[in-house]
Formats: sequence, C-alpha cells, structure tokens
Amino acid sequence: MALLVVLLVLLCAESGISQEKDNDNETNALIGEFCGRNGVTSLLNFNKNRNITLNDLRMQLSSKRVLAARAQVVGPGDSVYAVTQCRNYLTVDQCVACFDAGVSKVFNCSAANAYISFDNCFLRYEGFIEFYNDPYFMMDGSGTQFLKCGNQSASQPTPFNQVVRDLLSNIRDATPKTSNFYVASTRQIISENTKVYATAQCVENITQATCQTCMNSVYDKLNSCPPSNQGRFSDVACFARYSDTPFFNDNQTTNIITTRGHSGKPVAIVVAAIGGGVLCLLILVLWLLYRRRLRNKSKKNEQGYINLRLMPMADGAVHYDYKNLKLATNNFSQENILGRGGFGEVFKAILDDKKVVAVKKLQVQHDGATEEFEKEVKLISNIRHRNLLRLLGWSSEGSHLLLVLEYMPNGSLDRFLWGPQRGTLNWNQRYEIIFGIARGLAHLHDEYHIKIVHRDIKSSNILLGDDFRPKIADFGLARFQPEGQSHVSTAFAGTLGYTAPEYALHGFLSDKVDTYSFGIVVLEIICGRRSTEVRPSTSDICCLLEDAWEMYENTKHVNVIDETLKLTEYEREHAMNIIVIALLCTQSPASDRPTMSEVVSMLQEGRSMAERQLTRPTILKNANRRIHIEVMQNQKRKMQLN
Ligand code: ADP
Ligand code: MG
Repeated sequence: MALLVVLLVLLCAESGISQEKDNDNETNALIGEFCGRNGVTSLLNFNKNRNITLNDLRMQLSSKRVLAARAQVVGPGDSVYAVTQCRNYLTVDQCVACFDAGVSKVFNCSAANAYISFDNCFLRYEGFIEFYNDPYFMMDGSGTQFLKCGNQSASQPTPFNQVVRDLLSNIRDATPKTSNFYVASTRQIISENTKVYATAQCVENITQATCQTCMNSVYDKLNSCPPSNQGRFSDVACFARYSDTPFFNDNQTTNIITTRGHSGKPVAIVVAAIGGGVLCLLILVLWLLYRRRLRNKSKKNEQGYINLRLMPMADGAVHYDYKNLKLATNNFSQENILGRGGFGEVFKAILDDKKVVAVKKLQVQHDGATEEFEKEVKLISNIRHRNLLRLLGWSSEGSHLLLVLEYMPNGSLDRFLWGPQRGTLNWNQRYEIIFGIARGLAHLHDEYHIKIVHRDIKSSNILLGDDFRPKIADFGLARFQPEGQSHVSTAFAGTLGYTAPEYALHGFLSDKVDTYSFGIVVLEIICGRRSTEVRPSTSDICCLLEDAWEMYENTKHVNVIDETLKLTEYEREHAMNIIVIALLCTQSPASDRPTMSEVVSMLQEGRSMAERQLTRPTILKNANRRIHIEVMQNQKRKMQLN
C-alpha cells in the first residue's frame, strides 16, 4: 500500500501536477499550496517585509474595494513582491476572507516564495518582480499546477461528460479573448434538468498568449475529472473550476461563445447582423434548430442519452412553449401589438411569472442553412450590455417563429423624434441616447470578444427603456469574416437613408458601415427629422444629410437643430459639436470615419479627437427604385472640430 502511494506521488510529480480527490463540498476549498525552495538571507527581515506586503494587499482590497492587488517591499534584506486575486463573482468581503485564509497558510512557510490557491482566490509572493507580468518566470520546480477532482460521480455520466467538455472547450477559447481574462458560464443538462457551472480566470497583467497556454492546460487537465461532479485546476497563470452545484449566481455569467476558423485556430470574426433581411435568416436558423431538436429526440431513444444539441441555444436564451406565448399575448391580439416591421408584428406579452416581454412573430419563408448560423443565434443571446437589447428566448410553431425579447416600455426612438410625441425629449435625454447608442456599438465592435457589425442601425431599431436608456435592437444573424479583412456581401441588408454608400452600392462591409448609420441617427436625433424624407418632385431620398452638410459648410449648422428644442447657449454649442461628430461619421471613404470607440471618446470629451479634415459626404439617391450615386467632388476642407 505504502509503495502504491509513493508510486502515485511520483507519477504526479513526473507530470508536474498535484492531483487530489476532493473530500468535501467546502465553499472555499484549498486547491493547492506550494511553499517554495528559494531561501531567505535574514528570516527576521524577510518576515517583517512579508508582513508589510501582506498588510498592504489587505488594505488595498478592503479600502479600494477591489478584487485584485499587488504590493511590494524592496529591501533592506529580502524583498517581497506579492499578488493576490479573487474570482470575479465574489464580493469584496468574501475576497478579503479568502485572502486572510491564504495569509494564515503562508505564515507556515519560511521560504522566500510561496503560492496558495483556493476556490475563491490565490496568493503568491516571490523575491523578484518578474513574475508580475510573466507568472511562469523562474518557477522553482514542480507542484505549481494543482488538479482536484470531486469524489462523487454525476448521475448521468454520458451527457454530463459531454456538457463539461463542451463548456471547458468554450472557456478555453473565450477566456483569453475577454478584456479581464475571466469567464463564468453555465450549461443545462436537459435529461437531468440540472446545470453545470464553470468559471475560468487568468492572472491579471499577463499576455493573451500566456493566458491561452494556461487555458490549454485547463482543458487538458480538467477534462480528466468527469464524470466527477466537480473539478478544479489551478496554475500560477490561471484557474478554472466546474461543478454541478452552483457556486455563482445565474445572473453572473459572462459571454463565452467563440468561433474557430477553417484552420482550426480561433479567429475573431465579424458577424454582420442584418436588420430586415437577417430576420429571414434568423427564422431559418431557428426553424432548423427546431427540426434538429425533433430529430435529436428520436436519437435520444436510439442512444439512450440526449444529444447536446437539445441544450438551450445559449446561456441565456431558453425555448418557450408556443402555447404559453399565445396565452401571454392574449392570442396574439391586436391590442397587444407594439409595432409592425417588415417581417412581422411585435406583441406585448405577460408571462406566467408576471414578467413583461416583447414577442416578435416572424413568418418562416426560407429553407436550408448551415451549422454556422447556430453559433450566431447563440451569439445574439449571449451578448449582454446595458445598451443592447437582449434576446431572452425563442419558440416555433409550424411556419411561425417567435423571438422573446426584453420589453422596452417607451418603444422606439423614431416615435419621439417625429409623430405625436415629437419634441418630448430634451437635450440631455437626446445626448444620453446618442452616447448610449455609441457605447452599445463600441461594445459590439471592439469590446465583445468577436467583432459584430449590426448593419441596420436606424432610429426604429433604437428602443427606449422607462428611463429613456437606449438599447439597440435587431442585431441578428450574420456572415463570417476573417479578422482584418473587408467583407464583400452580395446582399444589401440595410435601410436606405441610413446605409453607407460603399455597402449599399458594392456590398463592402466593415464596422464603419455602422459608424455611418450612427452618424445619420445622430442627425435625426438633433434635427428631429427623418433621414428617409422623400423629395416629392423626384422621389429621391433626401435631404437631412445634404442640409446638415450645406449648413455646416457655411458655418450655419445651428439652423438644422430641432426647433422644438429649447437650448441654453452651452447646450447649443454642445449640439453643434455633436453635429460635427455626426458628419465625421458619415464621410466617405469609410477609412475617414472614426471607429465607434473613438466616437465614445469624442463624446466623453465633448469635442473631436484632433484636427480632422471633413469630407463632403457621398449622397445616395433612390430614383426610380435604383440606387445610384451622386458623384460629387470631394471637397476637402480643413476644420478645427470643437
Ligand atoms: P422595425 O425595426 O423595422 O421598426 P420591428 O419588427 O423590429 O421593425 O419592430 C416594430 C416596432 O415594434 C418597433 O418600431 C417598435 O416600436 C416595436 N418594438 C419592437 N421591439 C420592441 C420591444 N422589445 N419592446 C417594445 N417595443 C418594441
Ligand atoms: Mg426592429
């Protein structure tokens, strides 16, 4: 027996991993501790420096209310550099408690370096600074990777193993791409009506490549745990954990969908969401998912377990029963209609739990789709941002497909710019709406871990909450595009009057297509006029952009501001600056337009970023139902934008 134990220890040491079975269901289990081999020159000095450093860490956590900190004391005697970091789903108090548990452990260690990892946090100190940015720097021997598998087995190993593997693979790919190297996600196991919870976190300030390397270990090592009901893995560069018992709240999940290119390497993609046209594709995808669901049901009978495809499409979106939605919308009654778009009606619905939602009813018209679209549907429901409308779920019945969406009590922005509610938004509200749209788009383009181009930004796709906070709606299906390349689309998917010329005419798609439409919406907001006004004599779409440009060229753009707005002197200046930003957004070629992240900065600073040359916009016209371009001399004019 003793020999066996020795052999096991040697085996673990050989692979550089300490592996143990979990003994209990502690809320903050110790995953591993490592008292290093680097000696100290003066224990007295070292202890003093270590105490100061650890106190400093604690102070930072509790007074700055943060979940990660660094501190150091550089000599005399042994220097101590320390880092601690908690998992993002914790409160600061839980974080401090975990840190304290770590401190009480490391006090038993009198080496110049130590590392200790719990479920909730890690603590590490060394006698040198380099590990701050490269956690693998000078690792003194094995034992700094810890794997801990649970000692109970899942009741349905086959679906459980598949769900865990799928979740871990998503986490491996997604974590290095997030801005804070952190992911928390869940997956439903339908056959058991239970969920698997998983989280991963890389150490702060490391490179994306180092995080990815560590996540590859997570995937390789943690995958050996199932069918154990839980597993933890900790390395000096990252941490991951899965469990069938919740250890964070359902509302604390993050986005984890990633896409792989043909080479098998993860690639960022541009997902171009079509407004009207895309809905057809969305219908198609969900319809196919529905049919696949039926097929998988029969597979279940053959194979004795439920195929993963039966899982909800994504973390957030759930499948609703058609009958319930019919009931919730009062049999899709006329009184419940919130609005009509090109592809169907939108109803107000009150669900069983009294939650109010919007249900968009679409007519299925197409057949045939690819696997890739499924990912895009997942993607829609995984995106969470205060300025982006959430897809809560879906349902289908015959040729009908229903999307369950967040309900927005004030409806769409267009209603407040013209029509009966014209003039009800004051300048501050309009500015907040402009800023919110910019932030939502910047998130889609630059902050989410894949790039998404909306393609149909218009004021009827900006919905307003009861506090008038804007949310962008109708980003839907998409086309894939390798990172950094312009996409040539054959389908025109935007709305005339809002669509960038290069996209309408040639199908050239980039995030700057959204920048252009954003500029048009901003002009609508400030001028209180639609971009799709038609000149009666020619039936051309005109004149908002032309008018704004003409006025601006003559430094009279104050004249295009909505006359229902009663502005102070300061507000008038502010509105004029924002007209200039809108014109900056509508320039051609697309490379002359700012990115949406740059627009956010400009809006925050209240002025443009630098001296820019404004170009006369290229105006599209819709004569005889054909798009043609009005050739214009690009008259450049040097402007100081402020
Ligand atoms: P479009 O975007 O072309 O207006 P839609 O079918 O997307 O067409 O929406 C039709 C109308 O329904 C919108 O203009 C809006 O007024 C209303 N609407 C859509 N979604 C919601 C929602 N989630 N909450 C409240 N109203 C909505
Ligand atoms: Mg819409």
